[in-house]
Amino acid sequence: MKKIAILTSGGDAPGMNAAIRAAVRYAIYVDMEVIGIARGYQGLLDEQMYNMDMRSVADIIQRGGTILRTARCPEFVTKEGQKKGVEILRKNDIDGVIVIGGDGSFMGAKALSELGIPTIGIPGTIDNDLAYTDYSIGFDTACNTILDAINKIRDTMTSHERFSIIEVMGRHCGDLALYTGVGGGAEIIIVPEHKLDIEKVCEKMRDSKKRGKMSGIILLAEGAGHAHSLAEEIKKHGEFSIRSSVLGHLQRGGSPSMKDRYLGTNMGVYAVKLLEQGIGNRIVGIRDNKFYDMDIVEGCAMKKEFNIDLYNLAGIVARNNMITIGN
Ligand code: ADP
Repeated sequence: MKKIAILTSGGDAPGMNAAIRAAVRYAIYVDMEVIGIARGYQGLLDEQMYNMDMRSVADIIQRGGTILRTARCPEFVTKEGQKKGVEILRKNDIDGVIVIGGDGSFMGAKALSELGIPTIGIPGTIDNDLAYTDYSIGFDTACNTILDAINKIRDTMTSHERFSIIEVMGRHCGDLALYTGVGGGAEIIIVPEHKLDIEKVCEKMRDSKKRGKMSGIILLAEGAGHAHSLAEEIKKHGEFSIRSSVLGHLQRGGSPSMKDRYLGTNMGVYAVKLLEQGIGNRIVGIRDNKFYDMDIVEGCAMKKEFNIDLYNLAGIVARNNMITIGN
């Protein structure tokens, strides 16, 4: 291949820039031209493209977000939109595309591949909800951001002898809550993979109070409930002093962690290597610390397994023997 394009799509994630930088620099190293497409598939349909050189990716590895910007594009879900995209790519002599995003973006990558433009997907989402890869770019940084928030909230909860519900992102996937619940020593972790039982939560808080522990952190994944309404429900019991915080978009930003820069750099290069060989319709992942690639449809069809061992372990090591809430 002589000329490839790269775009970021869907929700942004810290470390996307590391992937862009590595893909651009490796492509230039193997004598390919690289076109940056701004604003995801929308930018493709609007022909928002520019040439990328070594310097266009300088000073970005440490930046959160994506220099290419991102967007959601309903038109690209349609066959007409996809065909229009392929025409634009052909008109610009683009032989292959790299898409950094989540499972929705991968469906767009699949469509491009099927219409004759080999396309490779790189997993970029803080949610870590893609089953085929152990980690996606952005998850680690988001975990560290959440841990920082837990530490700060815990300070004030301890001082005031209060419980706090902290709601984190993750959509239908509980990984952000689970991993940061373990790392942050949360007393209770509530994830969408297990049914929420408010009575059980209250029971655990009651046990804790009986043992003289008046404060604690309840980590709640957004897919399992809402912090403010859960706090109101618990307040109705009249026994607990409780507050709630929704961390929101601060989880998406920030300078990427070492791990996300490492994932981004390796996956960016890996994707170009596939295109170099004319291979498309693949997604890049990491499994047991090894980078690998697999078919987009197969990879997206995989059902994510909840890390039940970690969930159980969280219950065992939670302070004062408070355990995670499951069914
Ligand atoms: P993510 O990639 O983070 O999962 P979305 O699900 O919002 O984010 O998808 C991002 C974009 O990918 C959508 O706005 C759309 O342009 C494209 N996309 C999503 N689903 C499809 C699909 N089934 N076919 C083609 N393109 C799609």
